[in-house]
Amino acid sequence: KTFSELGLADPIAQALAAEGYETPTPIQAQAIPYVLQGKDLLGIAQTGTGKTAAFALPILDRLAQNPVQRMRHSTRVLVLSPTRELASQIAESFRVYGRNLKMTVATVFGGVPINRQRIMLQSGVDVLVATPGRLLDLIDQRILTLNHVEVLVLDEADQMLDLGFIHALRRIVPMLPKRRQTLFFSATMPKQIAELAARYLTDPVKVAV
Ligand code: AMP
Repeated sequence: KTFSELGLADPIAQALAAEGYETPTPIQAQAIPYVLQGKDLLGIAQTGTGKTAAFALPILDRLAQNPVQRMRHSTRVLVLSPTRELASQIAESFRVYGRNLKMTVATVFGGVPINRQRIMLQSGVDVLVATPGRLLDLIDQRILTLNHVEVLVLDEADQMLDLGFIHALRRIVPMLPKRRQTLFFSATMPKQIAELAARYLTDPVKVAV
């Protein structure tokens, strides 16, 4: 199948063609139709499988199909990443795939001054990619609220636990609206990750590559 046949709108399919993407990878082919339907997803996939596009493409499509007025200090999509490098890569992917859409994508992580992040978030964004610690700082300083998040992505959940972010996650997720779409990715599925997935996902589709 092509990206269009999976259900992605023309502006997105065109951005992919411009990037030289010809066919969806297996995780993309399996995940995209369900994410477009609004289903929760549990993805077992390593880096290099195309998992970023598997969530970024259908999320961008859903945002574009359903425009809303931008809320200050808010984001419609929250992507949690264990590291700043991965956060930057994910944000860049959203920008590339969404180049024909009017979406604002922001990245926040620790170790850099908070002031630029404050200015970025003041008028609100569509997609925020964040590491958990800095995200909590921004929330505690009332620079950001999670009240309007429509989609949560947890990427590399196993790494997130290995790096000690479990307490941060336990604080962050309850701040999100209960009615939301949640996409959960991990390269491995130890017991602790399976329990976390069971707690955060509702009737998820499972995809393993
Ligand atoms: P990821 O697994 O998300 O880190 O993606 C791995 C690499 O594959 C990235 O450099 C993507 O740009 C690239 N990529 C993802 N999907 C496709 C595709 N369908 N066709 C060609 N390249 C892709």
